[in-house]
Amino acid sequence: MPIFAPDLPPPADHTILIVDDDPTAAASIAGVVEELGYRVEVAHSWVCALEKFSAGSIDLVLMDAVMPGVDGFKLTALLRARARSYTPVVFLTGLTDPRARQLGLSAGADDFIGKPVDPFELRVRIGAMLRIRVLTKALEEKTQRLARMAHVDVLTGLGNRRAFDEEFPREVTRAVQFALDLSVCIFDIDHFKTVNDRFGHRTGDRVLSVMGRVLARGIRGCDRAYRLGGEEFVLLAPETGAEDCRTVADRLRNDFRRACASVLPDRPCTVSAGVASLAGVGLEAAEPRALLAAADDALYRAKTLGRDRCVVAAAANDAVLEEAAGATVGRSD
Ligand code: GH3
Ligand code: MG
Ligand code: MG
Repeated sequence: MPIFAPDLPPPADHTILIVDDDPTAAASIAGVVEELGYRVEVAHSWVCALEKFSAGSIDLVLMDAVMPGVDGFKLTALLRARARSYTPVVFLTGLTDPRARQLGLSAGADDFIGKPVDPFELRVRIGAMLRIRVLTKALEEKTQRLARMAHVDVLTGLGNRRAFDEEFPREVTRAVQFALDLSVCIFDIDHFKTVNDRFGHRTGDRVLSVMGRVLARGIRGCDRAYRLGGEEFVLLAPETGAEDCRTVADRLRNDFRRACASVLPDRPCTVSAGVASLAGVGLEAAEPRALLAAADDALYRAKTLGRDRCVVAAAANDAVLEEAAGATVGRSD
């Protein structure tokens, strides 16, 4: 898109909010703006202006400076504080005092047009302001798209390590604040290196994609799944105890093994899992790193116990006993 001359959408695609406490003045400006082909909203009070602005579809505000109560300057500051997107504000004012203009600019105004309004000048200024609006909106959307991409794992479409690092501490804080449980489950595909070695890296990637799909399709709405890196995935299950999380993890492990049969028909592909919950490992683990470390320890146990299983951190003692007795822990099949 050219920077200096963006293609402006037709006027009817833009909505202009006219704020003026004087209905006659507002109607006269609205008539001119409508004549130019723009969509128009009119507000005679600051409350109404805030309401219409907050609805989110305003592209430009034409603001009267002098109004009773909250004047145009204060109202501009209020609008700016709430805006999710940059919306130009142009003052229509009879005030010629440069200090009044300075006040307006400090409050966030972008331009001034003297009253009485000259329709030709109004048309030119609206065009210039909407050009800025179109450019900033495109930039805002691009920034949002990049921010989303920066949090997505390209191979699987799941959240990536960055997303996890940001969201996990928030979930722990929320759980502690509302005295709720929170479970973390780390999955690690078994003997994945041999998949790459025997079938090639591309087949390895397909196996990783299968795991991504299994997680994306198999988790509940409130749960979140991420690929931490390599063949390691993590499931965050808010308001879920360790045993319930184990049930989910075992279902997902079975789904993975079944789904992998289409990629590797002659070689069963399994995944081990380690689960830890805030309630299960005790209060000292209300620290995100400690909770993750507990899940990682459980995963390590699942590996040393023979893989293809899920171990719950809270059940570590049981696991020791069962290991001694030669039994498997959390085995789903
Ligand atoms: P274990 O059962 O103990 O988990 O053994 P493993 O072979 O799964 O674990 P190890 O950590 O030895 O090997 C992981 C392999 O994952 C090694 C690495 O080359 C491979 N890997 C990491 N990232 C990718 C990727 O994006 N694509 C593919 N195809 N392989 C990857
Ligand atoms: Mg690994
Ligand atoms: Mg592995």
